[in-house]
Amino acid sequence: MSAERPIDTLVTGNSYAELPSRFFVPTAPTPLRDPYFVAVSPHAAALLDLDPSAIAEPSFVRALAGSDAIAGATTIATAYAGHQFGSWVPQLGDGRALLLGERRNALGESWEIQLKGAGETPFSRMGDGRAVLRSSIREFLCSEAMDALGVPTTRALAIVGSDDAVYRETPETAAVVTRVAPSFVRFGTFEYFAARGDAEAVRTLADRVIDRHFPEAAGAERRYAAFLQSVAERTARTIAHWQAVGFQHGVMNTDNMSILGLTLDYGPFGFMERYDPDWICNHSDHLGRYRFAAQPSIALWNLRALAAALEPLLDEESAAAALACYEPELRAAYLALCRRKLGLREWPDDSYDLLGDLFALMGHARADYTQTFRRLCEVAASPTDADEAFCEAFAARDVEARSWLERYRAAIRTSGLGEDVRAAAMRAANPAYILRNYLAQTAISRAQQRDYSAIERLLAALRAPFEERPEFADFARPAPEWAESLEVSCSS
Ligand code: AMP
Ligand code: MG
Repeated sequence: MSAERPIDTLVTGNSYAELPSRFFVPTAPTPLRDPYFVAVSPHAAALLDLDPSAIAEPSFVRALAGSDAIAGATTIATAYAGHQFGSWVPQLGDGRALLLGERRNALGESWEIQLKGAGETPFSRMGDGRAVLRSSIREFLCSEAMDALGVPTTRALAIVGSDDAVYRETPETAAVVTRVAPSFVRFGTFEYFAARGDAEAVRTLADRVIDRHFPEAAGAERRYAAFLQSVAERTARTIAHWQAVGFQHGVMNTDNMSILGLTLDYGPFGFMERYDPDWICNHSDHLGRYRFAAQPSIALWNLRALAAALEPLLDEESAAAALACYEPELRAAYLALCRRKLGLREWPDDSYDLLGDLFALMGHARADYTQTFRRLCEVAASPTDADEAFCEAFAARDVEARSWLERYRAAIRTSGLGEDVRAAAMRAANPAYILRNYLAQTAISRAQQRDYSAIERLLAALRAPFEERPEFADFARPAPEWAESLEVSCSS
């Protein structure tokens, strides 16, 4: 009675597979051997109206590991291209991910479901089609954490693992992460067809994306210009969130840019710990093209590549006008987020020096970005012990830190929220828990010993990142010394 298995209701069909055949290649997964359950996100399961405990069942695990067929699914690898580190690559595509299809939830939302690490595809090039357990855990935890932080992102439903060996710098083991998003279309999907002079495909893809995801453009008189403008605005808002929360993507190639403005393709990402705008989280990024402070301008570079790909649909002038909204949108979104982080109703005298000077201080003192803002939540209108906790991180710059605090106090007296609500509002804007690299590494090391409890515990903290809980006190601490040498690279 296979039709009654919960797995067979996972997707209702695959509408992407109904596009012209040049959009994808039907590809069967290569099963993981003897797969086992590693983790589930109850929150992603709830989004899909799935019972999280069902996902740990053998039939679900086998299907997510590519062993068993799933009713209604048509597994496809989608075609895309992209600019990687600024260089044009005409053919990329899903080299290790397979799109199963989509599921509609009770709210009427349609979610695409993808298996990442499900084996070779015609787009694998030199790759093995696999994802290692290490990178799957990082992607799983970070997508769920980002969502809880309010940052637009793809989601992760589950991880299944296997003892199958996968060779990176050292032998590791394989895993499949089940990813969920309204759409996995990338800037690079448009670039792929544009580079082939396939204007019809560019239009078909734009129409599909607009009709499904851009109601604001669907009804517009000049729908393609409105579409590009919306993509630019959504991208701007997501980048504003990244900068405000201290997130660095690491590989902002155009094939990793979601057309919906979601954070997509978690590889060598990082959350900034010691404040440093020149920080480069990806050790493979030798020139620092994607360093923290460069993210806003790189996103615009990528939007220009998208605009060029949409050339069959709109003239240059309209494209330029659509992209002109990017910078003001980013600036407004970023300043609004920072204003919330500081607990201000408005910027004092319309000046942002307060913020810039805090960043400068944090840079000099190499202060922890997340902890500094979290400690600032406790600072009151008149001096208390919270001042000492705040100043602790600025030991070498104690005098400057104290004088900054006095200016901050003056600002909250004139421009702050009421004293009774400010601390709570600030705690809701400044997370206690982010996915620090060493926390991910600790959970990974435990999982490599087949103990998955650390993933579950970390996920529980990261899903309520603004709510400080005593049992998770260890997760709020900056990295210990041993973690200074941890490196992440493109190897995943
Ligand atoms: P990424 O850097 O992970 O965004 O991937 C860039 C391109 O390389 C995409 O086309 C991926 O599908 C492909 N790719 C990355 N890793 C692998 C792998 N292990 N096997 C096959 N293709 C891969
Ligand atoms: Mg990618």
